[in-house]
Amino acid sequence: MTNLRELTGKINIAGALRADEPLKEHTSYRVGGPADLFAEPQTVADAAILLEAAREHALPVFILGAGANILVSDRGIRGLVLSTERLRSVRVEGERIVAEAGCPISLVSEAAAAVGLAGLAFIYSMPGSVGGAVWMNARCYGSSVSDILEWVELLDEEGRVVRLPARPEEFNYKLSPFQKRRALILSACFRLHHGEKPHILAEMEANRADRERKGHFAAPSAGSVFKNNRAFGNPSGKIIDSLGLRGYAIGGAKISDYHANMIINTGSATAGDIEALTRFVSRRVKEELGFELEREVIPVGDW
Ligand SMILES: Cc1cc2nc3c(=O)[nH]c(=O)nc-3n(C[C@H](O)[C@H](O)[C@H](O)COP(=O)(O)OP(=O)(O)OC[C@H]3O[C@@H](n4cnc5c(N)ncnc54)[C@H](O)[C@@H]3O)c2cc1C
Repeated sequence: MTNLRELTGKINIAGALRADEPLKEHTSYRVGGPADLFAEPQTVADAAILLEAAREHALPVFILGAGANILVSDRGIRGLVLSTERLRSVRVEGERIVAEAGCPISLVSEAAAAVGLAGLAFIYSMPGSVGGAVWMNARCYGSSVSDILEWVELLDEEGRVVRLPARPEEFNYKLSPFQKRRALILSACFRLHHGEKPHILAEMEANRADRERKGHFAAPSAGSVFKNNRAFGNPSGKIIDSLGLRGYAIGGAKISDYHANMIINTGSATAGDIEALTRFVSRRVKEELGFELEREVIPVGDW
């Protein structure tokens, strides 16, 4: 059995490396127990050292972006949690923008607008990192990340840096090929086009204001709990609403008053409360309407 405190002393990286890090500080739900080992590498080389050490000591690895689409259990995550938080450079190359995995996707959107590049306004103000947005193939306002993704650089399962062109046929609604792998997304290149700066900024502001109106920033959440399935005829929020579940609560977790597909932490929620409420909604929808809702928020850790 590896002594993790001893191991932190042996791994030499420039970024942060701590044992027993409370993950509620790193998730948008503001819940989650400790990571046995928590690292924030500052360079790709440091990330490679950490993943190599994890392989050597047979530690499971979880890659953490901004924690905006996960539910970390109250018992936390065993093994190594590698956060991309400090990998956040962004560069413009003609009509393309290349961003490291930990950069908030909203900042990439802002950087594109600043040089008059259009194509990333749709995702402005969505919480999350570049890596998380690519891994989830995030979708908002009718566009998906895969619509503008040119290539992705990975640290693959053997510790090699590889650049893969994004093939549209490998992506689907909230599905990316990276979900089948255990690779670390290092950076992504987005294909944009020149546009009028005021138009780009106006679209970004309209999207931000729309999210604000819909209560996205009013309380800790992870956005939509369930994916939308066209076969059900209505978005998941409408389906949940039709059962009168808005405002229903378990412990400190509550179905949002303004969006029935969002569970919020009213302040005192545990991950257990959120999980119980998620299962309750699934069960009610299945029992009363026969639909099997698919979870979008990913439960992680030791349940
Ligand atoms: C208020 C609110 C509104 C939201 N609105 C939307 C919306 O409109 N559309 C939408 O699609 N989503 C939405 N979301 C969900 C969330 O913002 C997105 O799914 C986002 O892409 C998650 O990114 P993240 O960095 O937080 O990923 P995390 O939650 O940290 O991770 C999600 C998954 O990606 C993996 N991952 C993250 N980074 C990497 C990496 N570098 N390499 C390999 N794997 C990685 C993780 O291991 C995990 O499995 C919303 C969330 C909130 C809180």
